Amino acid sequence: MKYFSTNHKAPIATLKKAVVKGLAEDRGLYMPEEIKKLPKEFFDNIENYSFQEIACVVADAFFGEDVNAEDLKKIVCVTLSFETPLAQVEDNIFSLELFHGPTLAFKDVGARFMARLLQYFIRKEKGDSLVNVLVATSGDTGSAVANGFLGVDGIHVYVLYPKGKVSKIQECQFTTLGKNITAVEVDGVFDDCQTLVKNAFMDSELNSAMKLTSANSINVARFLPQAFYYFNAYSQLKRLGKADEMVMCVPSGNFGNICAALFGHAMGLPIKRFIAANNANDVFFNYLKTGQYEPKPSVQTIANAMDVGDPSNFARIIELYGNSHKRISSLISGATYSDSQIAESMKSCREQTGYILDPHGACGYRALKENLKIGEVGVFCETAHPAKFKDTVEGIIGSEVAIPERLAAFMRGEKQSVPMTKDFADFKKFLLGCCK
Ligand SMILES: *Cc1c(COP(=O)(O)O)cnc(C)c1O
Repeated sequence: MKYFSTNHKAPIATLKKAVVKGLAEDRGLYMPEEIKKLPKEFFDNIENYSFQEIACVVADAFFGEDVNAEDLKKIVCVTLSFETPLAQVEDNIFSLELFHGPTLAFKDVGARFMARLLQYFIRKEKGDSLVNVLVATSGDTGSAVANGFLGVDGIHVYVLYPKGKVSKIQECQFTTLGKNITAVEVDGVFDDCQTLVKNAFMDSELNSAMKLTSANSINVARFLPQAFYYFNAYSQLKRLGKADEMVMCVPSGNFGNICAALFGHAMGLPIKRFIAANNANDVFFNYLKTGQYEPKPSVQTIANAMDVGDPSNFARIIELYGNSHKRISSLISGATYSDSQIAESMKSCREQTGYILDPHGACGYRALKENLKIGEVGVFCETAHPAKFKDTVEGIIGSEVAIPERLAAFMRGEKQSVPMTKDFADFKKFLLGCCK
């Protein structure tokens, strides 16, 4: 399979190049030239497949031409060592719990898949030099990527995070690991971290000295595997006999997760329609309303993993539907919620159903409550375990949230990080020193 850039000004790339480089030369995002439809028999029998079996079929459609079948199967199995159960919250509303991975975030699957695929391509061509992964994080991405790549040889990961702006639990998940993971504690805000990473990708001296790639959802190997979730959700709902009018609601920030779901839909997955649920960052919501895409600076919310003012995967969604606002807005609807609306939904859901939502999942739940039509069954992604936002959640619902042992284990490790200014010259000097 070949990959083209959403800016249409870069050469067509192989999968290896798309994964190793992350972003195309014209700064566009890579898109597969073809999206394969899966056979009717697959969907007719999908309720009899396990999660791993489903993922193998989907992975083969994306990557089967470029990766040896046995190796691809192994990558899928290593990646998916956990389940993503559907929890029934109300009669017609289900929570797709994507937080049962090692760092309790849905990004675990993409991060683990990308780590193994990158390693596969590096190993195949002996003599390839070390690949350096740079990732800027406000919390969740850094922990998933650091854990996904931990101990994978041939790859070194630098996690840049804003000093004092990441929750204790999240910080422990990427600063206590050591080995091939270096945490860089930037004296600035998240945007400063992002700017350092972007500057590094554009610096020619740095790029000739070391191989650099990104593990944000711009990377095809990071976002595409998330499509597995949606086939599996459909399979589980079908098993319950409720999948005829399935509505999928995805709390969105950079729109990587919902984009993967839309790829699934393009492959024939019979989801009736989609809802992109946002916090107060409402650029996509406004695009659906007006047809105009107007990025703006992000605003801080209690669902901070979705604080994005210019979602990078918007370019892929536009490309997928031939830039037709009509096609996009007839398949996807939007929702945007303030912090107080998010809190109110967390509280009322807890009181009325007993289910504890995290602030991100709460946007999804609320969007279904407000938008589901008679006969439809809604599934929202619960994108993080509520314990990851313990203080916020407890403050809202007024009772304690237990920390799962997996999360507690990270908190016993010793923090190691490199202090850094937000000045690119300092960061560049540091990176050049690392590759000597
Ligand atoms: C990353 C993240 C999101 C947003 O996902 P996108 O793919 O960026 O749209 C939502 N919730 C949580 C908890 C996240 O970590």
